[in-house]
Amino acid sequence: MATPLQYLSHPLLTQKLVTLAVLREDLLHPTIPGNKWRKLKYNLQEARTQNVETLVTFGGAFSNHISAVASAGQEFGFSTIGYIRGEETLPLNPTLQHATSCGMQLRYLSREDYRLKDDSAFQAQLLTHIPHPYLLPEGGTNLLAVKGCTEIVTELQESWDVLCVASGTGGTLAGIIAGAGGEGHIIGFPALKGGEFLHAEVTQLVQAYAGQAYDNWQLQTEYHFGGYAKHTPELLTFIQDFYEQHQILLDPVYTGKLLFGVFDLIEKDYFTEGTRIIAIHTGGLQGWTGFKQRYGVGWPTEEMLSV
Ligand SMILES: *Cc1c(COP(=O)(O)O)cnc(C)c1O
Repeated sequence: MATPLQYLSHPLLTQKLVTLAVLREDLLHPTIPGNKWRKLKYNLQEARTQNVETLVTFGGAFSNHISAVASAGQEFGFSTIGYIRGEETLPLNPTLQHATSCGMQLRYLSREDYRLKDDSAFQAQLLTHIPHPYLLPEGGTNLLAVKGCTEIVTELQESWDVLCVASGTGGTLAGIIAGAGGEGHIIGFPALKGGEFLHAEVTQLVQAYAGQAYDNWQLQTEYHFGGYAKHTPELLTFIQDFYEQHQILLDPVYTGKLLFGVFDLIEKDYFTEGTRIIAIHTGGLQGWTGFKQRYGVGWPTEEMLSV
């Protein structure tokens, strides 16, 4: 089934003579939504081929990736171990509650140890007593994840001029660039402050996967709202208005910042008349429950989150 593409109607779009559609990757899979399913798909196949017993990965306490790997383990019959950054906090937040309810074993790493998560000697030490492990890096970004993300583009039925996507590790952006194969223009919106570092990361991932470089992409690094998982009242108001107008719920870490940025660029005449823009809804809605608790906000309602 092709991911639904939802065209938005908005006075700004009429005024600027551009079209904007949201690719609803958030609806792709019920428990492993959005780009996390794209990134896991070929890794899960590979794990099965290797007769793996246990998926092992890393993430922060509110990580969409941790949540997705826990769900995937339960659904596809792998044990899962999540190495979580920082100390255990009880009661567990909703992300980690979900993870343990799927059977994920949580192990905590101090912030110093967590920095070693990509170090091979450190990894070997972590894996010593785990039978048949399969290691997924933080955020799930590796070349099989890039391969999965190429399909976001290759499965698209409609024509487009510009694809816009939120970026954390840049794996999804790299897959989209590779999948587009030089066609159109692609814009990544880093959710982290100082997102310029992604330029080198993404270039390297694309080169490793596709065996060549493309230059039809760029980063818009000004829409991080203070940094990763940071937010402002302006961002939350935007997300609420967006829901009212289009009945699409965005998340506060990635896709809210993305759509805010896209509308801001349209407002600033960044796109020429006639440009057909697609913004990719990469999911991330599981993060809302923890976000609401943490910041004491009542929106979005349970009902909005359950659909
Ligand atoms: C993980 C995630 C991203 C970032 O994906 P990368 O491949 O790490 O850049 C974007 N949006 C959502 C909703 C995510 O959960």
